[in-house]
Amino acid sequence: MRAVITGGAGFLGSHLCGYMLDKGWDVLCLDNLVTGSDANVAHLQSNPKFAFQRKDVSEHIEVAGSVDAVLHFASPASPPDYLKLPIETLKVGSLGTHNSLGLAKAKRAKFLMASTSECYGDPDVSPQPETYWGHVNPVGPRSVYDESKRFAEAITMAYHRHHGLDTRIVRIFNTYGPRMRLNDGRALPNFLYQALAGEPITVYGDGKQTRSFCYVSDLIEGIYRLLESGEHEPVNIGNPHEITILEFAERVRDLVGAKVPIVFRPLPQDDPKQRCPDIAKARRILRWEPKVNLEEGLQRTYDFFRQQVATTKA
Ligand code: UDP
Repeated sequence: MRAVITGGAGFLGSHLCGYMLDKGWDVLCLDNLVTGSDANVAHLQSNPKFAFQRKDVSEHIEVAGSVDAVLHFASPASPPDYLKLPIETLKVGSLGTHNSLGLAKAKRAKFLMASTSECYGDPDVSPQPETYWGHVNPVGPRSVYDESKRFAEAITMAYHRHHGLDTRIVRIFNTYGPRMRLNDGRALPNFLYQALAGEPITVYGDGKQTRSFCYVSDLIEGIYRLLESGEHEPVNIGNPHEITILEFAERVRDLVGAKVPIVFRPLPQDDPKQRCPDIAKARRILRWEPKVNLEEGLQRTYDFFRQQVATTKA
């Protein structure tokens, strides 16, 4: 069995490459390294079942040989990244998804699309079930990500209905763990980096907005179960343990043991006020639920970041 993973050198993509290799798959990782890094897959390079190709999947994709699954994970995913790369983000969500679907169709392969809780926008329903259609500003700064992912879901369903392609859609909620970029601008890397550097921790707004953080190994397990299932409609994968961003900042500060202040900064436009997955569907059809609690997950991520900061300094 051979998989093509777009965005395979990113945070989630690289964990997925490792997981599928462990399951016995051959993996071809495609990444243009705009937000990913070849360091994320350096440990896989000696594996003869693994191949890496630098490639922008917003351009036509040509892959020799048979392919059994295409998993489309290429996209900037951190708000500061997609605000810096708005056109690239729209292109990879639209053209990149179209090209990845075309590859899957040509190879008669399964297709799995990495979608997002951002499809729900700033939700007026909580927790969010898959049946909720969302509350998205179609022209705000976050729309480059939200709308391209919504388009990606639409074209994936169209390929399923019109071409009979064997597709999956996973709606990924906030995820954290080793290999997040130190400077990716998301809450956890910022808080950990700031606490480690002895800098003030920046909380946007009043910190009362909520998120629900899933540890990366739980997420990857859920995604693989979805790939193996027969479900074509979107499935939420995330951790339903909801926490305010202020409490999250305090947890990180306590973990690091840093004596740094928490400072408040303006809330970015359209920043969702709450986000929490309803995972009843994943529980029912995938027999999946997260296992790693926040304490354990934060500790593992902290160990990784500490090492990264030490290496950067050396
Ligand atoms: N956030 C924050 N301080 C930071 C970075 C992020 O308070 O230094 C907030 C951000 O405004 C949002 C939450 O933390 O409310 C999660 O942000 P993140 O960028 O991790 O991802 P999002 O869930 O918004 O996609």
